[in-house]
Parts: sequence; C-alpha cells; structure tokens
Amino acid sequence: MNDCLFCKIIKGEIPSSKVYEDEYVFAFNDIDPQAPTHILVIPKEHITSAAEIDESNSKVVSKIFEAIAKIAKENNFENGFRVVSNIGESAGQTVKHLHFHILSGRDMTWPPG
Ligand code: 5GP
Ligand code: ZN
Repeated sequence: MNDCLFCKIIKGEIPSSKVYEDEYVFAFNDIDPQAPTHILVIPKEHITSAAEIDESNSKVVSKIFEAIAKIAKENNFENGFRVVSNIGESAGQTVKHLHFHILSGRDMTWPPG
C-alpha cells in the first residue's frame, strides 16, 4: 500500500491544480504558496528525495529540469525564479516524494532561512 500524498496527487486520488504533465513528470500549484507563483515539480516514479538519485533513476531528473524550463518559458517569469529541493527534516522536507519547488514573483533573500 502506498500512502504517499504526492503519488495520490499524480493518480488523481487527491485533487490538485495541474500546471504540466508528461510521461515522467507532474507539476501542480503548491497548496500553501510562499511566493506569487509556487509550483511543485515531481517525478511520476516514487523517489523519496534527491538523496536517493542514482544511475537507475537519474533520467527523471533531466526530465524534471526540461519541464521546469518549459514552465518558466510559459509563465514568462520576468525577474527570474528559484528552484529548491528540501532533503530531510533539517532542510524542511515534509513530503517524502522528491519534489522541486519553483518560486517566482517576488524578491528572495540568500542564503535562505
Ligand atoms: P517540502 O516542505 O517537503 O519541501 O514541500 C512540500 C510542499 O507540499 C509544501 O510546500 C506544501 O505546502 C505542499 N503540499 C502539502 N500538501 C499538499 C497538497 O495536498 N496539495 C498541494 N498542492 N500541495 C501540498
Ligand atoms: Zn510518492
């Protein structure tokens, strides 16, 4: 049994506001946006985090970044955007399915908190 929230979103068992989908990738608006645009980009394959990427599954990462570039072009992010992946508890990962946040539409600080 797969209790993963993002796997359920991919299957449509939990509704989401879809932004993009292809054979490998699903992207949808974050339910609690931290910027005017806040999109989550995830692989359809369940991978726990970026720390679990290896030769057997790394193709999805290139597909994710192809999708990110398409989404960025479609949304015409004028002043740039940020891509973030939190890995593990101290980095703030709350959902254990690999995901990349796309944030845009406001100025951002560096380093992040
Ligand atoms: P993390 O904290 O693991 O880096 O990011 C998880 C993200 O998933 C958070 O930004 C959170 O707002 C988002 N999230 C959690 N549950 C849901 C949900 O049911 N639907 C959507 N669209 N986003 C969710
Ligand atoms: Zn999953």
